[in-house]
Amino acid sequence: LSDRLTETFRNLRTKGKLTAADVDGTVREIRRALLDADVALVVVKDFTAKVRERALGDEVNKALNPAQQVVQIVNEELVGILGGEQRRLEFAKNPPTVIMLAGLQGSGKTTFAGKLAKQLEGEGHTPLLVAADLQRPNAVTQLQVMAERAGAAIYAPEPGNGVGDPVKVSKDGVEYARRQQHDVVIIDTAGRLGVDAELMKQASDIRKATSPDEVLFVIDAMIGQDAVNTAKAFQDGVDFTGVVLSKLDGDARGGAALSVASVTGRPIIFASTGEGLDDLEPFHPDRMASRILDLGDILTLIEQAQQAFDEEEAMKVAEKLANEAFTLEDFLDQLQQMKKMGSMKKMLGMLPGMGQMKQQLEDFDEREIDRTEAIIRSMTPGERRNPKVLNGSRRLRIARGSGMTVTDVNQLVQRFEQAAKMMKTVARGGTPNIPGMGPM
Ligand code: GDP
Ligand code: MG
Repeated sequence: LSDRLTETFRNLRTKGKLTAADVDGTVREIRRALLDADVALVVVKDFTAKVRERALGDEVNKALNPAQQVVQIVNEELVGILGGEQRRLEFAKNPPTVIMLAGLQGSGKTTFAGKLAKQLEGEGHTPLLVAADLQRPNAVTQLQVMAERAGAAIYAPEPGNGVGDPVKVSKDGVEYARRQQHDVVIIDTAGRLGVDAELMKQASDIRKATSPDEVLFVIDAMIGQDAVNTAKAFQDGVDFTGVVLSKLDGDARGGAALSVASVTGRPIIFASTGEGLDDLEPFHPDRMASRILDLGDILTLIEQAQQAFDEEEAMKVAEKLANEAFTLEDFLDQLQQMKKMGSMKKMLGMLPGMGQMKQQLEDFDEREIDRTEAIIRSMTPGERRNPKVLNGSRRLRIARGSGMTVTDVNQLVQRFEQAAKMMKTVARGGTPNIPGMGPM
């Protein structure tokens, strides 16, 4: 994972509220990390715009830990584009199920055909491989080798018959499967090194002639920025129901997965991870999300950092208490921390076995915090540091400034003095006695 992205999230960790600048900085690093992972630029733009919008919204603003929330949003969006749930092959109600493969030359179609046949054999299916790549002389032979290794049957034109018609071979192959009771047909088709009209027409004709249940677009994970154009060309030219991402054993970061899923909206069904016939896995959107941006690590980092931060803060408070330096200013800070934690009632109420505590929470009025805050805010810094200077006229001024009564101000000062005393006891290792609550 990019160190800069980690660093960016690390810096966000202590923020109670994220500013637009915080969010922009983070989005910039996410953008860089996605481009590093070879996600296509258009997709990166789309993605970061969405993340930015959500990061500036309410869910982050109200979150206990905004940085963590942003990471979760990024992860959610990633997994969402990658298909959310894992999608499986769909089988026809009336066999044979016809699966057609499409993709550029060298993308891994023939290899995948063999892998899929082997996997289906293992699941008790009786797949038939159909050799409809008549473009290259040795393509049929290559599929024959695959079929043999997979222990699967193959339908191929007789060698030496000159250039055959791939559409006819495909159609005949499906007919053959029906007669021979093969329940799945896998049609391996030809590819070109680049997208080309003739190839696209051939693939489209094969599709029309065989009405496949699945058309799987095989794409090399190492293709990089070309993923978008290639995927779009195949979607427009042939259209497909699902994607196979091949060569994921290489050091591709998987950006192609995000690009293809994002621009085509088609699910990725398989991940092809090697040259061996067993190197085939179902595609897991969540795992791919972590391969593209290793957010799991970031989350752990943020949690650790957050803990350290909280401990540090607690130490500071304890130190102040021991030195009798706890002021209304610190009190205000604590109130704000409490507010940041959102509804205490809801949070603590969710914990089991809170018993007596729960009742006290029922009586706890969150607006009280707001009122207290208003009063403290109406004090001068000097008054906050040393409430002893609060004479009658000062209290009246504060009451007016905060829209409260003098009695409210008096009560607050009294409560603060009690709290400060109690905290001093705690800081010295004693047991506090909270008025009205009994010993804790
Ligand atoms: P096709 O032209 O689309 O049929 O592609 P092939 O199946 O012939 O594969 C092209 C090359 O990529 C071959 O050398 C394969 O061995 C290799 N290949 C295919 N799939 C994978 C894979 O998942 N991982 C690796 N490392 N190589 C693969
Ligand atoms: Mg091939």
